Amino acid sequence: MSFTTLGLSDALLKAISEKGYTTPSPIQQKAIPPILEGHDVLASAQTGTGKTAGFTLPLLHTLSENPKEKYRPIRALILTPTRELAAQVYDNVRAYSAHLNIRSAVIFGGVNQKPQATTIRRGVDVLVATPGRLLDLQRQGLVSLKRVEIFVLDEADRMLDMGFLRDIERVISIMPEKRQNLMFSATFSPEIKKLAHGILRHPVQVEA
Ligand code: AMP
Repeated sequence: MSFTTLGLSDALLKAISEKGYTTPSPIQQKAIPPILEGHDVLASAQTGTGKTAGFTLPLLHTLSENPKEKYRPIRALILTPTRELAAQVYDNVRAYSAHLNIRSAVIFGGVNQKPQATTIRRGVDVLVATPGRLLDLQRQGLVSLKRVEIFVLDEADRMLDMGFLRDIERVISIMPEKRQNLMFSATFSPEIKKLAHGILRHPVQVEA
């Protein structure tokens, strides 16, 4: 299987070849088609499997295929447990959107919020965030999630280990009900299954 047969746009294929990838990894082969079809997806994948591209590529494809507005509301939210992971995912989003008219930003705690708020005010299509800072900015009216179309919960098991359940629930409550949900987790405890049940609708399940 190749990236071309997965149905990704030429602009994405160009970015993929610039990254030096020739073949989609197993998780990418399994996750990309249902995500492109608009399904909710529950994916079991460890770091190192290529999971980030597994959700980022189809997410960018879907956003860029659908008409965008001049005023850019946040259309995709990627939630990660740590700032390191948020920064890594953001690097991926930037690289894959090199030839797309898509703007992205990353926000996390421990640094001044002002530059983050300024970037968001100028309009971003894809936001990568850790829960605490995201909710801080939202409570101050500096971030709105009312137009989110695609929600990604990355490393869901680590999120729960770090005590982010309440924050995740709050984030869910401020997004539109009609949206596509993608959840990635390395492990599947009963707590993760319960969380998945609360977030995902008729999910397609895939494993790396
Ligand atoms: P991840 O599991 O998303 O953290 O990705 C692990 C590493 O694999 C990263 O360095 C990616 O850049 C790389 N990678 C992702 N997809 C592919 C692919 N299809 N071919 C080769 N390397 C890849």
